[in-house]
Amino acid sequence: MILPTTTVGSFPKPEYLRVARSKFSRGEMPGEELHRLERKATEEIIRMQEEVGLDILVDGEMYRGDMATYFAENLDGFRISGLVRSYGNRYYRKPVAIAPIKRRGPITVDWFRYAQSLTQLPMKAILTGPYTMMDWSFDEYYPSREHLAMALAEAIHEEVKDLEAAGAKYIQVDEPAVSVRPEEIDLAVRVMKVVTDGIQAKTITHICYGSFDDIYPKMLEIPVDQFDLELSNSDFDMLDRFRKYPFSKEIAAGVLDVHSHAVESVKTVETRLRRLLKVIPVERITVDPDCGLKTRTTEEARDKLKSMVTAVKTIRKELGGNGK
Ligand SMILES: [Zn+2]
Repeated sequence: MILPTTTVGSFPKPEYLRVARSKFSRGEMPGEELHRLERKATEEIIRMQEEVGLDILVDGEMYRGDMATYFAENLDGFRISGLVRSYGNRYYRKPVAIAPIKRRGPITVDWFRYAQSLTQLPMKAILTGPYTMMDWSFDEYYPSREHLAMALAEAIHEEVKDLEAAGAKYIQVDEPAVSVRPEEIDLAVRVMKVVTDGIQAKTITHICYGSFDDIYPKMLEIPVDQFDLELSNSDFDMLDRFRKYPFSKEIAAGVLDVHSHAVESVKTVETRLRRLLKVIPVERITVDPDCGLKTRTTEEARDKLKSMVTAVKTIRKELGGNGK
């Protein structure tokens, strides 16, 4: 099948889960009850993806809060700070490295197994990358940023191996921090080498919203099979870079602007796909949104994905397939 469809990973949490998470954090709900609701929300988001007609599904990250803090909470060597203000009015708890970073045991593997057990379609496993984990943490233990990033890379490599052993055919390691610190792109390449070493599953990295001018084409050296990139929010200016420095890897192309509440029309998505197809061979393209959908409402997320899937079916037919 050409132009397989998927998503970057996160989906909005349903209202009952948001309420449950805040009750749990105030000590007003037992962990087992929260876990039950997380599983319920995971099943619902898998059914939604099936109904929309996506080809490669995700678990929706219903059990995660912040993408760095979630993994830090599950690794030895981190404590979690009080609330820290980041860009705008977003507050989050920042991981602080205070001892050697080690994996206590599998972090997401049970969730992967559970999610995969609910569907016949392939489930993509998604982790936060070592460079981003390092960049979004304070370090009170390691002598340098490189030392912390390398320790994280070893821990994440263990998780990747366990996910592969559990049957994951697609493993995505998100590195959104890479595009905002171009001076450290070499380090990002080195740590991903550790993460993907010896892995046979398709490896993917997601990078979004940054100074692509400063990291392209160097970022192509990040050792993964597929780059999952935000394209629509920056009006496909990546295409000029692709023309200038062609590459042979696969791309998961962001054809939905997740920063916009407006639901793209099918025509808009078709136009974006046609622009892309002029530059990248069809057999190397996967289709998805620019970034995680968790900042949209569930309805917006569903309707945007419907436009995407409908547009892909049209393009498949045009290219000689049966649209399936
Ligand atoms: Zn993103």
